[in-house]
Amino acid sequence: MEGISFEHPKRGEFALIETIRRHAAASAMVPVGIGDDCAVVNAPGGQMVITTDLVNEGVHFKLDDPLRKVGWKAAAVSFSDVAAMGLRPEVLLCAAALPGRLTMDDAREIFLGVNDACREFGVALAGGDTTSCRGGLSLCTTVLAYARDLRPVLRSGAKPGDAIVVTGSLGGSILGRHLDVRPRVEEAVALNSHFELHAMIDVSDGLSADLNHILEESSVGAVIDADRVPVSDAAREFSEQTRKTPLQHALTDGEDFELLFTMPPGEAQRLIERPPFATPLTVIGSITAAGLSIRIGDKTEPFEPGGYEHFVE
Ligand code: ADP
Ligand code: MG
Repeated sequence: MEGISFEHPKRGEFALIETIRRHAAASAMVPVGIGDDCAVVNAPGGQMVITTDLVNEGVHFKLDDPLRKVGWKAAAVSFSDVAAMGLRPEVLLCAAALPGRLTMDDAREIFLGVNDACREFGVALAGGDTTSCRGGLSLCTTVLAYARDLRPVLRSGAKPGDAIVVTGSLGGSILGRHLDVRPRVEEAVALNSHFELHAMIDVSDGLSADLNHILEESSVGAVIDADRVPVSDAAREFSEQTRKTPLQHALTDGEDFELLFTMPPGEAQRLIERPPFATPLTVIGSITAAGLSIRIGDKTEPFEPGGYEHFVE
């Protein structure tokens, strides 16, 4: 890109995005651009949100994974980004780069998977692109949704004193759940409809990395209660094959696609007492003025967020 220097003291995906963001052309039509799960775009009579994602062979799935699940995943991860705005995904465009080794039956499986996800979540498949490619299979999904009578929930609204809440349980998605992504669409819309949410993100990079995105966008800090983090069975199982504890997996593994959000403590209490859905909800800590720390027993210590980041080994 002419006139843009990509030199940055930090390397990795997040630093690269920061550089792109700093130089990005802006428009009054886009009140929220780079830095949230979706961009918010002003539309006649209201606002819409839009997001795009790539799902790549060798990075987001393996060569021998079932292709129908790969198609499902590609659509579902973008639906999850719309859910992270507290909205319901409505329209999908899906572009596919298909390597020559795939048969027509393989391609059919992929698009059956995309369609499965669209039907399950009431999303229209409205277009896309289909090309051959020399590299691995790659799927790009772009999803849009109208805000209608709901406000898009941003990453930037967290306030000191807020409770931090997460849906479901976390960690070990690599053992299988990363292909069977269940975007928390119904939960997100119910939360946004009936509760005061200050900030929200979906857990794609890992709980602590994604919490850190909220902290950076909101210019706040947080304390996580280690004892309260909902550790999944998969995280426990996975920890038997790694040198990490189940808690470490829950804090840093990517692709959980749970919702992580902050709200006033009174609202959190109201939510926990009368949850509007059966999906588990856990208060895992609170927002502070600055810094990230973790409370283990009666000790609180600084905590370095970690998770999955592209371009970092
Ligand atoms: P998510 O995990 O929610 O999909 P990402 O971590 O992929 O979000 O991206 C973070 C933010 O950076 C998003 O707002 C996204 O739109 C933006 N972004 C990522 N890559 C690019 C790019 N190549 N050009 C412009 N914006 C980008
Ligand atoms: Mg996201």
